Amino acid sequence: MGEKNARVRGRFAPTPSGRMHLGNVFSALIAWLSARSAGGEVMLRIEDLDPRARSHERADALMADLEWLGLTWDDGPYYQSERGAFYAEALARLAAAGLTFPCFCTRAELHAASAPHASDGTPVYPGTCRRLSADEVRRRSQVRPPATRLRVPDAADPAGTIEFCDLAYGPQREVLADECGDFLVRRSDGVVAYQLAVVVDDALMGVNQVVRGRDLLGSCARQTYLAGLLGWYAPTYGHVPLLVAPDGRRLSKREKDLDLGSLRERGVAPERIIGTLAAAVGLAEPGDGASATELIGSFAWETIATHPQDIVVDEDFLAGLCKKL
Ligand code: GLU
Repeated sequence: MGEKNARVRGRFAPTPSGRMHLGNVFSALIAWLSARSAGGEVMLRIEDLDPRARSHERADALMADLEWLGLTWDDGPYYQSERGAFYAEALARLAAAGLTFPCFCTRAELHAASAPHASDGTPVYPGTCRRLSADEVRRRSQVRPPATRLRVPDAADPAGTIEFCDLAYGPQREVLADECGDFLVRRSDGVVAYQLAVVVDDALMGVNQVVRGRDLLGSCARQTYLAGLLGWYAPTYGHVPLLVAPDGRRLSKREKDLDLGSLRERGVAPERIIGTLAAAVGLAEPGDGASATELIGSFAWETIATHPQDIVVDEDFLAGLCKKL
């Protein structure tokens, strides 16, 4: 599964928490170009693990937007909400190997423990519940249901140091014990953690190339480590710059005027969106519209690697986006 030299199989993995925004479009565009330019394929997985993100209407709108943009897929959609049995099997394997433990810490307690924080803002786990006795676990389980964490090797153990080369950001090295510590694989409300689901899905779906926003670069070590424990190859990773407001704040689904619903209503053409985003990383001439298909021939990760800085959505960017073709 996930063989390194196989044909590229990339993926779109959107969370249907709202309409697609420009940042999502950018990640999807690069994932698509990377796979297509290598003669590979793309699969679509709707990441609706969290019950709050579960909505068939929003998933349908996402798919309609991808199609409108010309970002086609070859396989799927798969819905994470329907894949619980695969995640349960992986969790059972990790538990049988003695690699997981129940954790009763609340988020507030962990934040208050003033431990250093990982790149995604979660506190590095201080090991609080690592060595609870069976009695203690039983007693505490009566008060609140535990989450499940995966034990990571101590900082001095080379097994806990993960190295890989990102297609855009180059060589990376992370020590799990310092980056995050023992991390969540299942939340206390029973929902499987993103880190576990994504590893199980990418492996079982034969995904060998993962392209996404650079906010997830810090998750690669956890995902690579988990894949190894479960007997799978980790995919190749390519992260892309984020889209940010002029004050450096990350664009989010809250910026309604930059979501695809609003852009489509305002009559912005798909070629304008694709061309503007591609130009921001040197893949197209500024000011030109472009279809995704037109960009396949000139796509190169080296070009993105020379534009690693986040894309500032300022007045100029918006003027370019809204200019008529
Ligand atoms: N579902 C995540 C998102 O929409 C992406 C996860 C991933 O690409 O690994 O941000």
